[in-house]
Amino acid sequence: MSKTDRITVAYGDGIGPEIMDATIRIMDAAEVGLTYDVIEIGEQVYKAGHKSGISPESWDILRKNPVFLKAPITTPQGGGYKSLNVTIRKSLGLFSNVRPFRAYPPYVPSHFPHMDVVIVRENEEDLYAGIEHQQTSEVVQTLKLISEPGSEKIIRYAFEYARAYNRKKVTCMTKDNIMKHSDGLFHKVFNEVAKEYPDIAADHWIIDIGSAVVAARPESLDVVVTLNLYGDVISDIAAEVAGSVGMAGSANIGMNHAMFEAIHGSAPDIAGQNIANPSGLLNGATMMLVQLGKADKAELIQNAWLKTLEDGIHTGDIYRAQRSVERVGTKEFADAVIERL
Ligand code: NAD
Repeated sequence: MSKTDRITVAYGDGIGPEIMDATIRIMDAAEVGLTYDVIEIGEQVYKAGHKSGISPESWDILRKNPVFLKAPITTPQGGGYKSLNVTIRKSLGLFSNVRPFRAYPPYVPSHFPHMDVVIVRENEEDLYAGIEHQQTSEVVQTLKLISEPGSEKIIRYAFEYARAYNRKKVTCMTKDNIMKHSDGLFHKVFNEVAKEYPDIAADHWIIDIGSAVVAARPESLDVVVTLNLYGDVISDIAAEVAGSVGMAGSANIGMNHAMFEAIHGSAPDIAGQNIANPSGLLNGATMMLVQLGKADKAELIQNAWLKTLEDGIHTGDIYRAQRSVERVGTKEFADAVIERL
C-alpha cells in the first residue's frame, strides 16, 4: 500500500464526533503531519435517502485515499438498510481485521494483568456475505460462505503477523464439529498453513469453549485467527476482560486500502455527554500511524496515553475510586494526553 499524508476521516454517529474530535486534537498536537478529507457517513446519510449510508461522492474519496480513519456509525435496524461497515470492508477488500487486546495494569483494573491477545478476524466472508432471503412464508435463510482462498489469505496473514511481531502461537477457533463443511474447510486450511510455520505453535479450540478460554484464561492465548462472526463476538469479550470495550482499536487491512477504527459501536446511550472513552479510536489511530510509516509519532502518542492512564486520569468506564485519581470527560482526557506529549 502506498504511503500518503492525506487520509479520509469520518466523524460517525453517537459518540463518534466526540471521540474523533479528541483523537484528531491529539494527533494534531503531536504534529503527525496528516491532512484530512472529511466525509459524512451513517445516520444522516441514510436519512437523506442513501440506503447504503454513504453518498457516491464520499465513495470517490474513500477509493482515492488508501487510508481511512473511521468513527463508529449507527446501523439502522431492520430490512432495506445494509451495514455500511460491512459494505466498506468488502468493497475495499479489507480482508483482515486485526484487534489487539492488552491489559494495562495496574492503571486499568483487569483480572488478567498479563493478557496480551491479538484477534485476527476474517473480514469478508461467513454470514456477513449478506445473502439472506425468505425461503417460504415461515422460513428465512442466511447463507454462510467460506472459501479456500479467503481462508488461506487470513490464516497466512495471522501466521505472518505472529512472525513479524515475535509471537509464539496461533490459535484457530471454529465450530467444525457441527459445520463440517464451512468451518471444517477453515480448520483444514489452518492445519495445512500451520505446517509452513514450524517456528510458531498452532492449536485449535471449538468456538464455544474457545470463548470461555477468552473469558477465563486469556493469558494462555497469543494470536487467535477465526471466522468473521466468531471474531466479532469474542472481540467484545476480550475487550471487556482486558479492561473496557472503550479501550481497543482495530485495523482493517487490505491490499490497497486500510481502515482504522475503535472496536466498539456508536454507544447512543452515552452520546453527547462528554463521557465516552476515546482510547479505542486513539489506539486505532496509533496503528494507522505505524502503517503510514510514522512509528515515531505513534510511539509519542502511545507513551502520552499510557502516562495519562498511569497518572490515574480516567474516563468513567475505567474509573475506580481506589485506583483512579481523577474522573474526566472525553475532552479533558484528550487534554491530559496532549499535556503529556
Ligand atoms: P456499543 O459498542 O455502541 O455499546 C455497548 C456498550 O458499551 C454501551 O453501554 C456503551 O455505552 C459502552 N461503550 C461503547 N463504547 C464506549 C466508549 N468509548 N466509552 C465508554 N463506554 C462505551 O454497542 P451497541 O450499543 O450494541 O451498538 C450501538 C450501535 O453501534 C448500533 O447501531 C451498532 O450497529 C453500531 N456499531 C457500529 C460499529 C462500527 O461502526 N464499527 C461497531 C459495532 C456496533
